[in-house]
Amino acid sequence: MDIELLIDGALAKGEGQAEQVLNPATGKLIVEVPEASQAQLNAAVAAAARAFEGWSVTTPAQRAGHLLRLADAIEREAEAFARLESLNCGKPYARVLEDELPAIIDTFRFFAGATRCLTGSAAGEYVANHTSMIRRDPIGVVGSIAPWNYPLMMLAWKVAPALAAGNTVVMKPSEQTPLTALKLGRTLAEIFPKGVINIVTGRGETVGSALTSHPQVRMVSLTGDIATGQKVLQAAAKSLKRTHLELGGKAPVLVFDDADIDAVVAGVRAGGFYNAGQDCTAACRIYAGPKIYDRLVADLAGAVASLKYGSPDDAATELGPLISERQRDRVASFVERAAAQKHTEIVTGGGKAEGGGYFFKPTLVAGALQTDEIVRKEVFGPVVSVTRFDDPDAAIAWANDSDYGLASSVWTSNVKTALKTAARLQYGCVWVNAHFTLTSEMPHGGLKMSGYGKDMSMYGLEDYTVVRHVMLNFG
Ligand code: NAD
Repeated sequence: MDIELLIDGALAKGEGQAEQVLNPATGKLIVEVPEASQAQLNAAVAAAARAFEGWSVTTPAQRAGHLLRLADAIEREAEAFARLESLNCGKPYARVLEDELPAIIDTFRFFAGATRCLTGSAAGEYVANHTSMIRRDPIGVVGSIAPWNYPLMMLAWKVAPALAAGNTVVMKPSEQTPLTALKLGRTLAEIFPKGVINIVTGRGETVGSALTSHPQVRMVSLTGDIATGQKVLQAAAKSLKRTHLELGGKAPVLVFDDADIDAVVAGVRAGGFYNAGQDCTAACRIYAGPKIYDRLVADLAGAVASLKYGSPDDAATELGPLISERQRDRVASFVERAAAQKHTEIVTGGGKAEGGGYFFKPTLVAGALQTDEIVRKEVFGPVVSVTRFDDPDAAIAWANDSDYGLASSVWTSNVKTALKTAARLQYGCVWVNAHFTLTSEMPHGGLKMSGYGKDMSMYGLEDYTVVRHVMLNFG
């Protein structure tokens, strides 16, 4: 198993404290991965800074060539990457292979194409005898920090646009799920000039914080918790680094009385529980109209109870475990507090699953109120709440009454209701009669405390560039 860091084109074992990487489906140790020492982190940043001189002046076509080779290499080894991701995260192997790997490969291919289409917006004479042009240039060394829920996909979302735009990168995967990033290190070393992309492992408070406060790092891109985003901002403030933050969500699902209930049930069954609900866009808080509330709860109860959790290697498994004992305890305590409310009902699920591993039963909480913790806080587990509304305007207000602003959905057969609601929802993404579908061409990112960085799309690429003005005097 690859556990070496990638620094300046060479693979080297971490010289810092060893971190235990566990298999969440069994709770057993997979491997110990030593984290980067401060000297190794400094070496990675210095290598990225040196490599920036050359990489930043390559043509878009040259950078695209590297990214396409990387996409091909991942595709060739898709099964091995999926196997490793499944082992490290407990995700069903088939879901990683069939859902995540194609999306990861497509991310590199998308940004390979996108960088060749990146343009400045103006060229002309805005002052007599002076031609102005707008350039979009790379920023410098980017520190990329990923969470544990989609390790290789988050790496792709961060690294692909950063490199495509001509930046160099020092990437830190989550200390809990570093294995696919470390495996990729070997391939990256073969494809990219040394120092262009570096991979360092380690905890947030050691390697993560050293990366975000390093003076030679010009931009930090983080996907993680709100509290981590705040720490990153504080550290970045000292040297005024650019920041790109993706910080979780609590997606509202507005179901109007004229919605197709079967479609809603299928959408929530899939979108609320995918990746065991450890997803920042998970369809986790439903607001249902008065006429369909009872039937929706009844139908969802059956659908959620039918979700199959268990061994990641079983082709029929839909849900794996949570990432850690700590995360499972956290989810369990949310559900216990929700169950203790007189007005709520745990319709199905409600507790830890028996046996080894960190499994939690898919859970539906009915009768939840807007003021309940289960409706307001990000649980990040297989738990969906249902709240009844009488007034559509109140439902929209409740949906917006949240610290988060990442993703949302509206379910109705009336196009006017759909458009009116979509226009009023304060979320980076609104799906209509769908929830969860992403595509490389469209931006993913939030408002409010969900952060402000955009992943994927041309907007994602632009986030990793700086706009510059060049003016030529021909008078
Ligand atoms: P986390 O914030 O604990 O960790 C994320 C990363 O930040 C890890 O690599 C960690 O080592 C690092 N980190 C922690 N403290 C740090 C510090 N002080 N300085 C620098 N780096 C530090 O989050 P997590 O538990 O790994 O992931 C779950 C969270 O991520 C959830 O809140 C989830 O909603 C969010 N998330 C958001 C999106 C999105 O697109 N908005 C996507 C996936 C996950």
